[in-house]
Amino acid sequence: RNVTVKQDKDVKEEYNLYEELGRGKFGTVYKCEEKASGRVLAAKFITTNRAVDRKDVEREVEIMRVLQHPRLLQLYDAFDDGKKQMCIILELIEGGELFERVIDDDFVLTEKVCAIFMKQICEGIGYMHSQNILHLDMKPENVLCLSKTGNRIKLIDFGLAIKFDPLKKIQILFGTPEFVSPEVVNFDRVSYGTDMWSVGVICYTLLSGLSPFMGDSVLETMANVTKAAFDFNDESFEPITDEAKDFICQLLVKDRTERMSATNCLHHPWLREDKKKEVAQLNKTKLKKFVTRRRWQKAVNTILALKRMGAVIVP
Ligand code: ATP
Repeated sequence: RNVTVKQDKDVKEEYNLYEELGRGKFGTVYKCEEKASGRVLAAKFITTNRAVDRKDVEREVEIMRVLQHPRLLQLYDAFDDGKKQMCIILELIEGGELFERVIDDDFVLTEKVCAIFMKQICEGIGYMHSQNILHLDMKPENVLCLSKTGNRIKLIDFGLAIKFDPLKKIQILFGTPEFVSPEVVNFDRVSYGTDMWSVGVICYTLLSGLSPFMGDSVLETMANVTKAAFDFNDESFEPITDEAKDFICQLLVKDRTERMSATNCLHHPWLREDKKKEVAQLNKTKLKKFVTRRRWQKAVNTILALKRMGAVIVP
């Protein structure tokens, strides 16, 4: 579909809106149905204000239009009501966030399953990079499951994604400290390797439930990231194979040019299909704690973002 933003048009004319599916710093996502076709989709509403400009949403739409791949959330339609609200209609993803699914008591987490997820993440990022686009906000919350039963995932949230121009020096001032790379913390030049670092952090956490660079404060976390100092000393890593550890070690490298690319990752022995995989069940206690902490953090961040916009919070 070649989507262009429909101007001065109310999304409700063409879509029925249903329950809320999720909420981020910038957008609230609802289930919806296209009246003409009966197709069930997701509608992401973004209020444009001081924090988010209309141009930012247009850029997100522009980037999504280019990205057509089974591992990436697909764009369906877009609206601008001409006032303060924009709405992007997206393919509906019903399985919820990957980490939420994985910590479910019915889900058996093994190294083999982790490799299945990481492979798909690398396929999605690899495709983006082949289109010269950087995601720049890779974190567990942006990996969703297609369904509650299968193991297929999709990457979402291209709100911070940018077209990479090697001739331009791109520095960024956003992201989540736990998942961002040394070059982001140091406000240095970013590139493809910047996403690969975050992929490494996601992999470390998925396997162990631990956040490799998390400190007691944001500053401490940022200092840990800058040093790129991490280890596998925790008991969580005892059942983890050397191949998986090597995979992580080749991503969490301080120098962004030395990290594996997404294509390199797909060729790494840990992700290769012909390799025998560890199927022992991993302990999920720490991963459950990690997810709970991230949920709290998300709630706090949402309140802080609302405050910055000058919103009044009614208890
Ligand atoms: P962030 O604060 O991470 O930058 P955001 O404001 O840009 O987020 P999204 O991450 O796009 O918003 O969406 C917020 C949440 O809504 C997601 O974490 C996810 O749980 C849910 N969500 C988003 N898109 C979809 C979709 N297509 N189908 C189902 N749920 C979705």
